[in-house]
Amino acid sequence: MEKEQKRIYLSSPTMHGKEQEFVQEAFDTNWVAPLGPNVNEFEKEMARYVGISHASALSAGTAAIHLALRLLGVGRGDVVFVSSLTFSASCNPIVYENATPVFIDSEPDTWNMSPEALEAAYEKYPDPKAVILVHLYGTPAKLDEIMAICEKHGTVLIEDAAESLGSTYKGKYTGTFGKMGIYSFNGNKIITTSGGGMLVSEDEALIQKSRFLATQARDPARHYQHSQIGYNYRMSNIVAGIGRGQLLYLEEHKKRKKEIYAQYREAFADIPEISMNPLNPDGDANCWLSGMRIAQGCGVTPDMVMDALEKENIESRPVWKPMHLQPVFAECDFYSAKETGSLAEDVFLSGLCLPSDIKNTAEDMGRIIGIVKGLFGK
Ligand SMILES: *Cc1c(COP(=O)(O)O)cnc(C)c1O
Repeated sequence: MEKEQKRIYLSSPTMHGKEQEFVQEAFDTNWVAPLGPNVNEFEKEMARYVGISHASALSAGTAAIHLALRLLGVGRGDVVFVSSLTFSASCNPIVYENATPVFIDSEPDTWNMSPEALEAAYEKYPDPKAVILVHLYGTPAKLDEIMAICEKHGTVLIEDAAESLGSTYKGKYTGTFGKMGIYSFNGNKIITTSGGGMLVSEDEALIQKSRFLATQARDPARHYQHSQIGYNYRMSNIVAGIGRGQLLYLEEHKKRKKEIYAQYREAFADIPEISMNPLNPDGDANCWLSGMRIAQGCGVTPDMVMDALEKENIESRPVWKPMHLQPVFAECDFYSAKETGSLAEDVFLSGLCLPSDIKNTAEDMGRIIGIVKGLFGK
């Protein structure tokens, strides 16, 4: 019998040891309780890294999106435009606030929100409360075009940069273009705190208020008094310690992710049926996940690739199933960038995410590439 091959992951946490020092410091100084110096420092260090003035550390990226919507006063009867090709966390908070998501298709150049489809949505919904723009798999969206449309209509932009921490567009970090930006430190993201998120903005008042809402919205009174509904959304001092350690390695992680992407692209260059997920030429993507599309009707399907990899104990994943095709959002409006169907659906049906774990060795990469090539008879 063949010996069991070690598992190759899609994108698993990579710790370096430095994280433990910050956590240890928290223990040694008895700052294990909610807030503390690591939280404050992690906020400052993140803000400095992405080049923004203010940041608040939260329990999840989803919590950051939720608070961004709360801070804008989004509520019942409001419409929020959001990328369809994304993870459900991008849009669930819209529903938490009883507002209505309207989904926007992707364009082929970056797989992100189509400016044309976005513009079209204003015909029926001239006054959305916000646009939530996702930078999918780390590739920056067409920010100039999207921002111009938001400005023209006076709509607030929220960037969901959960997957694109470290990616830049025209030299500026994604997450810092909109009124607010959010990041995630979930387990499979480019850096992780096991779970956590960050809300960033140039607007100090918004960030102050986010911290207030995230700590149960206590009024400044001696007794416990509340005039608003709050949440338990703050990041703990232990978790922030992991984040401080991870942030020191973000550049290294990005470099490794980019190498993985380049390696796949080169390896599949002679297979015309394969195209890698697009990178925006106006940006520098963190290449969080390497993805590919397979030409339809060529005899190889994404399922076949995923099955072949799984048989060798290698993890891969379908492209996000677009939100406008999800049963839970079946009633929601959707604006396509195409006459029939949608680009988001095309990408979903023809694409998959390849193992992009930065701990992949040259041998691991060789195995993955060999299996994929084999399916195409190469
Ligand atoms: C991971 C992710 C989120 C949610 O972040 P959590 O920290 O897991 O809550 C939001 N949006 C996108 C696009 C993501 O990939």
